[in-house]
Amino acid sequence: MDLLYSDEDLAFRDEVRAFIAENLPQEIRDANARGAHISKPLAVKWQKILHTRGWVAPNWPAEYGGPGWTSIQKHIFAEEYQAADCPAVSGFGVTMVGPVIYTYGTDAQKEQHLPKILSGDVYWCQGYSEPGSGSDLASLQTRAVQDGDDYVVNGQKIWTSLAHIADWIFCLVRTDTEVKQQEGITFLLFDIKSKGVTIKPIISMDGRHHLNEVFFDDVRVPISNRIAEENMGWTYAKYLLGHERAGIAQIATHKRTVNRVKEIASQECAYGGRLIDDPAFKARLSQVSISLEALALTDLRMQANISAGKSPGDQASTLKISGTQIYQELNEILVQALAYYGLPYSPDQFRPDWNEPPVGPEYTSGIMADRLLRRAASIYGGSNEIQKNIIAKRVLGL
Ligand SMILES: Cc1cc2nc3c(=O)[nH]c(=O)nc-3n(C[C@H](O)[C@H](O)[C@H](O)COP(=O)(O)OP(=O)(O)OC[C@H]3O[C@@H](n4cnc5c(N)ncnc54)[C@H](O)[C@@H]3O)c2cc1C
Repeated sequence: MDLLYSDEDLAFRDEVRAFIAENLPQEIRDANARGAHISKPLAVKWQKILHTRGWVAPNWPAEYGGPGWTSIQKHIFAEEYQAADCPAVSGFGVTMVGPVIYTYGTDAQKEQHLPKILSGDVYWCQGYSEPGSGSDLASLQTRAVQDGDDYVVNGQKIWTSLAHIADWIFCLVRTDTEVKQQEGITFLLFDIKSKGVTIKPIISMDGRHHLNEVFFDDVRVPISNRIAEENMGWTYAKYLLGHERAGIAQIATHKRTVNRVKEIASQECAYGGRLIDDPAFKARLSQVSISLEALALTDLRMQANISAGKSPGDQASTLKISGTQIYQELNEILVQALAYYGLPYSPDQFRPDWNEPPVGPEYTSGIMADRLLRRAASIYGGSNEIQKNIIAKRVLGL
């Protein structure tokens, strides 16, 4: 693929930059500056602004509401978007279940769900993992049994991110216990407020509520909410995971973090000198920057594949591993650059009614929270060890 931007590409970049500069709400800029978590209402507000321009889902085909961009345009958009600190649109809807619905869903499912995913009116969560079925996802036990026009669902999911603010869940259930594990799984979509669904919070290491346990007790789900064929859910689940993993790399965010590290490390230290002048620190930052450039090229190759109508495929595993390693390394470098200001972390600072100033300079805000939460980046979306197994098997043929 051609990596040099044409005049049209540069004009497109200016158009994106200008749109964001004019339309990103000030309250989001302020929240970003404080390193605060963007609340759902604010995220939806921004998604609706993007939606008016048709820019919510860069990878969707134009017939379902995608903008019809080239891979280079998508790359430019992602760079500008993340460089300007725009909040991510809900990945569960746009990046994950949306492509499953437009690829495998019925016309009625497309009509019901795709417009509301794009507009942000319906938020989704992912019901894959169960206690005992994470890496070994195919062993999942949540059971769905047909009764009239419905499935009756019983079981439990765990680590369900944002279930407490979601409207719908896409869920893997077991519909056949007599066959090979992968051949007895079905992919269902249902309203998470359905009778029989109970959601319990799990508080993560950063002291905040992102995760949940979700229990199903005789939940009735219309058969018409099933994606394509019964017992073929593993195929659709794997297709979705490719999209999920590809979305985890977040290259432009990392590039912005490198700049942030440079700014912080260029401050004068309390006892004189600057961290940025320390050869060991410089070497560590250079190494991660080089890895990031390599990752950006891999991402461009994968974007070109997606634009050509292919699945993200096994490259998504490479992106997932490198992207999360870089993420964690940069988070560690950031905390190192904060020195003792990294220590006084309190999740209270993210409460909407909190108005105490941070301990230390304003730029310290949010860094430790992200460091703690993103320790899990090498686990969620399929652990990095499992991604290595995938590469060993499918890419290297071992
Ligand atoms: C913050 C966070 C958010 C999440 N959000 C969601 C969500 O929204 N929806 C959802 O469904 N799930 C979610 N998950 C669950 C996530 O997908 C699982 O945690 C992950 O797949 C690992 O499964 P597990 O936790 O059961 O660990 P296990 O599978 O028990 O693995 C434990 C360790 O053993 C290693 N291991 C296991 N098997 C192998 C093997 N064959 N070869 C080599 N090493 C192996 C793993 O890499 C890991 O280090 C989330 C998890 C986290 C931490």
